[in-house]
Amino acid sequence: MSEAVDFDALEVAAEAEVVVVGGGPGGLCAAVAAAEEGADTLLIERYGFLGGMATAGLINPFMTWHAGGKPIIRGLFERILDRLDGYGGWGGPRQGSAFDAELLKLVADDLCQEAGVRLRLHTMLAGVDAAGGRIERIAALSKSGLQAVRGEVFVDGTGDGDLAAWAGAEVEMGREEDGLCQPMTLCFRMMNVDCDRIPPRADINEMYDAARERGDIDNPRENVLLFFTTHEREVHFNTTRIVRHDATDAESMTDAELVARRQLRQMVRFLREQVPGFEDAWLAEIAPQIGVRESRRVMGDYVLTTEDVLEARKFEDGIARGSYAVDIHNPAGTGTVIKRLPPGEAYDIPYRCLTPRGIGNLLIAGRCISSDHGAHSSLRVMPIVMAIGEAAGCAAAMAPPAADVRAVEAGALRERLVGRGASIYGLAD
Ligand SMILES: Cc1cc2nc3c(=O)[nH]c(=O)nc-3n(C[C@H](O)[C@H](O)[C@H](O)COP(=O)(O)OP(=O)(O)OC[C@H]3O[C@@H](n4cnc5c(N)ncnc54)[C@H](O)[C@@H]3O)c2cc1C
Repeated sequence: MSEAVDFDALEVAAEAEVVVVGGGPGGLCAAVAAAEEGADTLLIERYGFLGGMATAGLINPFMTWHAGGKPIIRGLFERILDRLDGYGGWGGPRQGSAFDAELLKLVADDLCQEAGVRLRLHTMLAGVDAAGGRIERIAALSKSGLQAVRGEVFVDGTGDGDLAAWAGAEVEMGREEDGLCQPMTLCFRMMNVDCDRIPPRADINEMYDAARERGDIDNPRENVLLFFTTHEREVHFNTTRIVRHDATDAESMTDAELVARRQLRQMVRFLREQVPGFEDAWLAEIAPQIGVRESRRVMGDYVLTTEDVLEARKFEDGIARGSYAVDIHNPAGTGTVIKRLPPGEAYDIPYRCLTPRGIGNLLIAGRCISSDHGAHSSLRVMPIVMAIGEAAGCAAAMAPPAADVRAVEAGALRERLVGRGASIYGLAD
């Protein structure tokens, strides 16, 4: 990838102390935290708006951020909830943890602008110039052409680990036995639904099974997954399932979108023709992009394991916490495996999961931190990813100039995060 770019021929479009690539839940929180901690910060995002899967993937609602009845993720995540609430975009009449994705785009803009994050939207990472264990500059492709961006510390918020992989970091993909990743899902919304008349989920699933048996629907998912939203008469579907596709391959992604839209047409027809409450409903929105649950995982100084999650392990360098279950949608077809933590428990995410082996000035902010397939299936949910992002941004700002991000002392980082309002095990939990 990077070999194809003649970096010396590129105009330098921007320089910053901290360069974050990808403005999803992880990258957004990293950029805001880095800027708030005093670093000159640039955030590069391929779309014209921020939010990643939360907006472009139409993913909703926020999965749990509590353990034992107490919030274990606070800090920036809590500030985002407050801001959403102020805009009337937080919590629905039937789904308390639903948020309004359009208003989240505005909240993300606000937070970046207030913190002084320099934004570069409509810009895609196109190459990485790394040598001697450091990233010197990256190539960014936009309507302005191919340009270079220089930075001191880089943060990978792409979700897919593009920056890390192209810098030569060690990556893994999918489950151990065959490398298959969790399925993708194209989310959609139906409007003008008579929600009071929607049958119980078991009845919808019976109708769905019958439609699958008749061959009306060729979705391998075992049931219909629906959520309510912040709006009356609107229902959100997270129910298409595209297996055996690769989110880091353009051809595979193209096919995934097309297969997903075929499933979506079948689902919409099924809902309108067979499910009470949907007779007069219409397809209001298809997510701008298919939802990617899993792709690369960037191997770091510690690899968080499924056992760490399920045994709710704590670490001296814990910088974020999670309590969401190990939740693996079958990468090959039907079925979903859910394994929960002991009641009331939460696990720590060590700082070492954010520091890729062999690259001194790179941090990971998002679902692709160093973990195994099972741990990834838990830590990938948006509140946890936001906490990881806040920690990555804070660490990026704390890293001494020209030093390795490992020079950031974990204890000092934990204290700093507590100062920012985060919930950190052993300090402010
Ligand atoms: C179908 C599905 C259902 C889910 N359900 C839930 C749920 O109910 N609740 C929950 O809390 N979580 C859920 N999740 C998980 C959650 O949405 C994601 O794991 C989370 O958004 C990951 O955040 P991230 O910042 O790591 O990556 P992303 O959200 O993927 O953001 C990455 C950002 O980087 C940008 N980007 C990527 N590559 C480049 C590049 N090369 N150059 C420039 N920009 C780039 C993207 O445009 C995007 O803005 C679900 C995920 C999926 C796919």
